[in-house]
Amino acid sequence: MKGDTIAAPATPPGRGAVSVIKISGAESFSLVHKISDVKHLEHRRAILCRIIHPETKDVVDQALVLPFKAPHSQTGEDLVEIHLHGNPFLVNMVLRLLFEHGARPAMPGEFTRRAFENGKIDLLQAESVAEIVAAGSEVWLRHSARALVGEGSEILKEIREKLLQAAVRLETYIEFPEEEEPAAITVSEIRSSILSLKSLVERAVQGYRLLSRYRSEGKVVLTGPPNAGKSSLLNALVGFERVVTSPEAGTTRDYVEVLLDAGGAMITAVDTPGLREPETPVEMRGIDLARRVLNESHLLVLVLDASKEPGEEEKRVLDETETRDRIIVLNKCDLPLRWDEKELENRKRYKLVRTSAITGEGVGLLRKAIEEFFLPSDVPDVDVAFVRERQCALAEKAAEALKKAAEHLNSGFADLAAAELREAMRLLEEITGEISTEEVLNTIFATFCIGK
Ligand code: GDP
Repeated sequence: MKGDTIAAPATPPGRGAVSVIKISGAESFSLVHKISDVKHLEHRRAILCRIIHPETKDVVDQALVLPFKAPHSQTGEDLVEIHLHGNPFLVNMVLRLLFEHGARPAMPGEFTRRAFENGKIDLLQAESVAEIVAAGSEVWLRHSARALVGEGSEILKEIREKLLQAAVRLETYIEFPEEEEPAAITVSEIRSSILSLKSLVERAVQGYRLLSRYRSEGKVVLTGPPNAGKSSLLNALVGFERVVTSPEAGTTRDYVEVLLDAGGAMITAVDTPGLREPETPVEMRGIDLARRVLNESHLLVLVLDASKEPGEEEKRVLDETETRDRIIVLNKCDLPLRWDEKELENRKRYKLVRTSAITGEGVGLLRKAIEEFFLPSDVPDVDVAFVRERQCALAEKAAEALKKAAEHLNSGFADLAAAELREAMRLLEEITGEISTEEVLNTIFATFCIGK
């Protein structure tokens, strides 16, 4: 229900230095008075106080309370943050007190939704809040932060103003088509301004498309024939023994995932069982899983045993992964080389690296190659407009409407062109949320976490 007082943890569950609870709504201040010894709450003035159980008078914690007076808060309502010590039982106790005294649990994204509904931010900014929390790389973090402070909204505003001007000129033209004065509006002028608007919209979409691969964490998969040294290399990459290795082929039946923080992109390295023909049902299941993980990954690290003559299996994995972005690794280079490197150099690949998981040779180079794949030095410098597929889909429809408008003008159907311009305007308003339905808002905010 709109306007009631909501509360939720704003920090993830677990132990830590602090846990924060947020309360928003008309009763926030009075609730804090009820459960603490605070006498006076002043806008943006932090107070150290005791949280006290209203009935038993037990001291629950010593906490920092940070009040915000409406409308100068995140939600536009009275809002209080309570900074407790970081203990999940403590957070639950204080939340329980708040719920018993009139607050209700916030739904996912409800704080941000209130901020949107009270006009503090537009929908584009609200969605960028969720993107900041979910970002899997520094590139995407920067992009979303720029959208949050309004860069995207500015670009859209500019586009909409120009669109409005074009629409007004078109309406004038429709009403006074016979106007012969030198300053009279010509169809071709209107048409070219519509087309330049269309390219502005397309450029904004393009920016999203260029960067969206940085949105979620990069997935790297180590794959290759059994015993090539995949598990050993994974251990060498993460720097500790994460996977048990063995000279016996087919020991890795399941796959394990490890997070590598490589140059700002969190990379999930997945060690998979070798893609050889399965001999047992367990192995078959393992290989099925491996193939699924392979398909979901962005980059393959194809590990080959350099100390072994290349055979059918090696040729098969090289062929099978030909169409994928891959780094080919010749492992066990501490042993005599039995491969013709020339042959490998002719194969399609992002990089070819020689390593030894035993001596550590080349492991640094491999790590660097992975980092560079996910964080190239030439990250495109794009205009920030969109951070979500939803926004791009609407923008693409708007570009389509603009294209049709230009075509109608070409064919002399000014009325139809005007209708398309109105449609483009409506679509752009949907992006920022000036027009929205309950259903759309529910879907968007359901993707947020509780306490956001
Ligand atoms: P996987 O089946 O591809 O995961 O291979 P493992 O990592 O289990 O390694 C298979 C065997 O090769 C183990 O006995 C490892 O100690 C050995 N091994 C792995 N990497 C190297 C390496 O770079 N040099 C040498 N000499 N042996 C290696």
